[in-house]
Amino acid sequence: MLCVLFGTLAGAQVNVKAISVASSTKAVRVGSTASLHVEPAAELTAGLTFQWSAQRGLILGSGSNVSYSAPSGLNPGFDVISVVISGLPDGPVKRYAVVFVYKQFVVLKADDYVCWDYLAPEWKYYLEYMAQRHIKTSAGIVAQCTEPSWNDLPGYADFVQYTKDQSKTRYVEFWNHGYDHSLNEFVGKTYAVQKSHLDQAQALGRNVLGITFTAFDAPFNENDATTVQVVNENTDIAVWMYAQGTGSTKLVLSRDGGEIESSTGVPSWSTFSAGMQPRHP
Ligand SMILES: [Zn+2]
Repeated sequence: MLCVLFGTLAGAQVNVKAISVASSTKAVRVGSTASLHVEPAAELTAGLTFQWSAQRGLILGSGSNVSYSAPSGLNPGFDVISVVISGLPDGPVKRYAVVFVYKQFVVLKADDYVCWDYLAPEWKYYLEYMAQRHIKTSAGIVAQCTEPSWNDLPGYADFVQYTKDQSKTRYVEFWNHGYDHSLNEFVGKTYAVQKSHLDQAQALGRNVLGITFTAFDAPFNENDATTVQVVNENTDIAVWMYAQGTGSTKLVLSRDGGEIESSTGVPSWSTFSAGMQPRHP
């Protein structure tokens, strides 16, 4: 049974269970701040007092709206912020917010998890190595290879099952790398063609793998203005890596975080360190 407790203060009813803390962001970069407030405002009657604290960072200000600061020198990780609200009819209540303090987010982006020969040993090695080292990565899948009509190809069933199992480890995020990875799949094609390729890939992810792709990068990292419209219209996609042009309403991650490979398939520390620009949030 759901029971909502109401107290009365100066004739006003207070729904204590509705009171919570909202943060302007869940991720706070070391050296920056976030704003916090107690909500909903309708439940905050006059005369309440707010005693804030944070396990690791600093609280600036007072009252129902304060700032949280992650001072430089703070180690990355979670921080728990709490507020004791006094003056309520049935005594004080304590509420919490959790933020993630970080220095730099890194996306390890691996493209072309296809594979025409399905489970390539290199992909298995990569994904399993990353999981064993507790490092998260992302892999761009070419969705056509999961078409149910391809299920008579050797390795199809194992590939589908392996991909599902890997996704469940939460160490890899599979993303939409196009339907067929054809040349110019998202360049110079009509709206209808581009929309069907994007949507078909999303549908295969959902229906065959049980995965809703929330990130996209076009094959060869190339797209045109029609793609911007098609991606904007897709409500599942939240992140677009290497989008070309302007007008995207998604979180666009551009290609200046540093290249890991000196050429395709050849990892190189010197190439990476020379090109890395840690300026992304
Ligand atoms: Zn590719």
